[in-house]
Amino acid sequence: MKDVFFSPYRLTPRQPLNSKTQGIVRHGALLKVIWNDGLCGYADLHPWEELGDQGLSEQLRLIGEGRWTPLSYSSLSLARKDAEFRLVGKNLLPEKGELKNNALISSVKDVDDDLLNTLKLQGFDTVKIKLGGDLKLETHQLRKFTNTSFRLRFDFNSLLSEHSYSEFMSSVPKEVRDQIEYVEDPFPYDSKAWARARKWAPLAVDQDISHVITHADPAFDVLILKPAKSDVTEVVQFAQKHRCKVAVTSYMDHVVGVLHAASVAHELFKEYGELILESGCLTHHLFEESEFSEGVLSEGPYLYAGPGVGVGFNSQLEALSWQKLARL
Ligand code: MG
Repeated sequence: MKDVFFSPYRLTPRQPLNSKTQGIVRHGALLKVIWNDGLCGYADLHPWEELGDQGLSEQLRLIGEGRWTPLSYSSLSLARKDAEFRLVGKNLLPEKGELKNNALISSVKDVDDDLLNTLKLQGFDTVKIKLGGDLKLETHQLRKFTNTSFRLRFDFNSLLSEHSYSEFMSSVPKEVRDQIEYVEDPFPYDSKAWARARKWAPLAVDQDISHVITHADPAFDVLILKPAKSDVTEVVQFAQKHRCKVAVTSYMDHVVGVLHAASVAHELFKEYGELILESGCLTHHLFEESEFSEGVLSEGPYLYAGPGVGVGFNSQLEALSWQKLARL
């Protein structure tokens, strides 16, 4: 048996997070779970209705009835992991950075020499750019990566069609195309169309991962693993079987969720080495500061363990007011 508590929160984006969302306040809840064996752990629950998740009140209602969604079930597993680390007094993250994160550019308009020089000096090797809003402007801006040494990750959030993707990629200079590590979700997954689109650059699957993971002959090279939502073991086993790589990313959620994702990335990197690509967990700065985000220790591409045990934030978590949701 366990008692589940929740504490709702809001995150205010500094600018629109991707082309599917406006810069509106986002709602989520932190979960606190106390098990009958006395362990207590914390996790985040941050639905993206725009990406097909059930909304927050629905997620909470279902937990109240003892029913778990992929999102809330992941939160429960991560809360248990947090509890186990708290029990032995260990932080989930390493004290030294070992696995880098990509820099995230939400608006391609921001790309200029100053930004790229700053990112290089900070130690970033890889830049992820959200694309698909204004393809003409984006082709123009991407030329600014010519003669830089950055590895590039593009994410279209499935906004294009096979045809518009081909057109776009043929307009990107070859020097820039050669720097692409992968293109994420150019258009909704379709094995034949993706197999054709792979001639432009390696492909990564994110949004359709739960469907394609059962696919016998995957037409992609990289799996985007979001511990907030996906079964970590299932994704890693699939990657090993089909010789794909894995990039672990946050769910653009509360920093409790961000650090849980970063700790999964670190753990997998230690165990599987080069199967695990650089992560995409540096997303806390997308939102206005909070008492939590101020407690995140990061330097350039690395996230480190902050004070406290488990996911950290001991005093911040204790200071929240918690409402009882269920005894299950
Ligand atoms: Mg994505």
